[in-house]
Amino acid sequence: AADAPRDFIRQIIRDDLASGKHASTRTRFPPEPNGYLHIGHAKAICLNFGIAQEFAGGWCNLRLDDTNPGKEDPEFVEGIKDDVRWLGYEWHELRHASDYFEVFYRAAIKLIEDGKAYVDDLNADEVRAYRGTLTEPGRNSPFRDRSVEENLDLFRRMRAGEFEDGSKTLRAKIDMAAGNINLRDPAIYRVRKIAHQNTGDAWPIYPMYDYAHCLSDALESITHSLCTLEFEDHRPLYDWFVDAVDLPNHPELWQPLVDAGLETRPSKPRQIEFSRLNLSYSITSKRKLAQLVNEGHVDGWDDPRMNTLRGLRRRGFTAASIRLLIERLGVSKQNSVIDYAVFEGCVREDLDATAPRRMAVLDPLKLVITNLPEDHEEILTFANHPKDESFGSRTVPFARGVWIERDDFAEVPPKGFHRLKPEGEVRLRGVGIVKCEEIVKDADGQVIEVRCTLDPESRHGLPGADRKVKGTIHWVSAVHGVAAEVRLYDRLFAVPAPDDESDGKSWIEHINPEAKRVITGWVERAASLAEPEQHFQFERLGYFVADRLDHHAHHPVFNRVVTLRDIWAA
Ligand code: ATP
Ligand code: MG
Ligand code: MG
Repeated sequence: AADAPRDFIRQIIRDDLASGKHASTRTRFPPEPNGYLHIGHAKAICLNFGIAQEFAGGWCNLRLDDTNPGKEDPEFVEGIKDDVRWLGYEWHELRHASDYFEVFYRAAIKLIEDGKAYVDDLNADEVRAYRGTLTEPGRNSPFRDRSVEENLDLFRRMRAGEFEDGSKTLRAKIDMAAGNINLRDPAIYRVRKIAHQNTGDAWPIYPMYDYAHCLSDALESITHSLCTLEFEDHRPLYDWFVDAVDLPNHPELWQPLVDAGLETRPSKPRQIEFSRLNLSYSITSKRKLAQLVNEGHVDGWDDPRMNTLRGLRRRGFTAASIRLLIERLGVSKQNSVIDYAVFEGCVREDLDATAPRRMAVLDPLKLVITNLPEDHEEILTFANHPKDESFGSRTVPFARGVWIERDDFAEVPPKGFHRLKPEGEVRLRGVGIVKCEEIVKDADGQVIEVRCTLDPESRHGLPGADRKVKGTIHWVSAVHGVAAEVRLYDRLFAVPAPDDESDGKSWIEHINPEAKRVITGWVERAASLAEPEQHFQFERLGYFVADRLDHHAHHPVFNRVVTLRDIWAA
């Protein structure tokens, strides 16, 4: 307890526990099931679930904020649950805002009875016109002074389905001249005759976010309701509803939950805002991610180019690397854009420590060792990790013909080229030093084979192995290697701020056409035998993962997570 809290939110919680305001801390992560979660949501997940883990007795609910039927889908509910668990968190309880529809309704009746809510007949355009502007106060609706009896009658008839969509709203009676526009008689309920994924046709009216969210928090005994900065101006309304409904002192309102066996001890929750996570070269808006999927710019929500959690997972980003990113960024009220390179750095750091090494050749050129017999075959032993013996070792077959990377050979080498060139020497990783004696070209003049001799004194383990040559290159035995489909992924957008439309271009036009390239490469057998989702460093190339859906030993498929070094740095 001696060390300083990591951020202002943890400081507030620590103070609240120290002062006895709360005995424990209870949080929630409240996604709307209208899409899959993205990297921005990871910040809210790590914060809410992380805090619950850190403070004794704390817990965090997963709440599906399902008050917008029509846009929501059970497919997304399952996806959200999956993604939260994949990130490494388990919820205390799974709740839905729709679990509380009856309570919200009773609470609205109470507000009407207390003279704090009224039924309005203005349509959406009229409501907007009456609302005023930042500099001009709003005007009272002509329906604002309806009697309690008339309001109760109309609201009950709204609930009974007597009115058409948009024809009536229930509004809070607060202050049409309030400086904060959110307090100018905000809507509580609207008529929407549409089926809901949980409640079916039971409700022709649905509660608004500002009303449902704070009451859901209170009903779940939430102590600290953490949300993003855009809700800062909504906080006075949050507090207004919490105080006006006063759930802790009105058990009759939440009796239906008790009857249904849901543990209910309403709290007076406090909303605290923090800044959103924005990532360069990315989009963090569910609506736009949905557009990428629906218009076919990507192959689905789990396309490895997407920064949805399932896309990142499929790409090979690890849950640990995402948690590391969030921890590094910290929590504040300062809006900022995180450089994508920072995220890549996190996954490199994690995979450097956790991914075994393998050899693969992605752009193959044949290298033949002429001073070995035709049928030469050896089994070499390679350490799986250069810095960690606990990874053990594996066998790698070696023969007279191997694949090397085409760009590890240069017929006319540029200055400072330390790999293979005519008459030059290079070390074949784990084998010894080879010298290029001859090159073979096809009819077009393209080099198709380099013929070398292997210095027998330089073999691995012999005294001559220490002889200095400048370069070391990797290889895969041509007869033993396994062909693999390799999907080379890169950033989905070609510019740092695709969302910035000040250049007159739509964000869609900034899609990087090079973000996916599929090639066939050669991998050593030990890589082809990977389990789906197993990570490797392919030496000198980058970090790769066996595709969780398409990879099979007889048809290996690897996705490039990230190159070994930042290729985007200027
Ligand atoms: P989107 O605009 O992409 O639809 P949202 O905020 O509407 O996002 P919700 O499902 O309502 O999505 O969000 C669930 C929780 O995740 C909220 O508490 C929200 O504040 C938080 N959240 C969403 N996006 C981010 C982000 N970029 N950074 C941090 N938290 C976020
Ligand atoms: Mg939303
Ligand atoms: Mg939003």
